[in-house]
Amino acid sequence: MKQPVILLVEDNPMNLEMAKFLLQNAGFQTVEAEDAATGIRIAKESQPDLILMDLHMPVLNGYEASKILKSDPVTAHIPIVAFTAHAMEDEQQKALDFGCSGIISKPIDVDQFSRQVAGFLVAKGEPSPATVLA
Ligand code: MN
Repeated sequence: MKQPVILLVEDNPMNLEMAKFLLQNAGFQTVEAEDAATGIRIAKESQPDLILMDLHMPVLNGYEASKILKSDPVTAHIPIVAFTAHAMEDEQQKALDFGCSGIISKPIDVDQFSRQVAGFLVAKGEPSPATVLA
């Protein structure tokens, strides 16, 4: 089975490395971007199955990046999950308003993180690594 590809857009190197490590261990492929502009370019080029989007980044933040991705027919179909420490209700609602499918909260829950990501793929009717859902 094809490994699902997750695009990680995150400007904090520690969070990025942790997310990458956990997802790869769970059987996902990952591609990474440390800023939103790069993330948008990679999303167009590599057509990931899901984008995990940090909301707070300099220059172009995750809300604006999500809006851009959702307005572009090349990337509009790709689910975006907001990745944020600010799991406040207004932040969540704002993320949904900008086109995100949901939220995964930081700090990363090491035991649940890959399942959380897999859950969004399953919700979209996409396959997930069997190891994650077993
Ligand atoms: Mn950030």
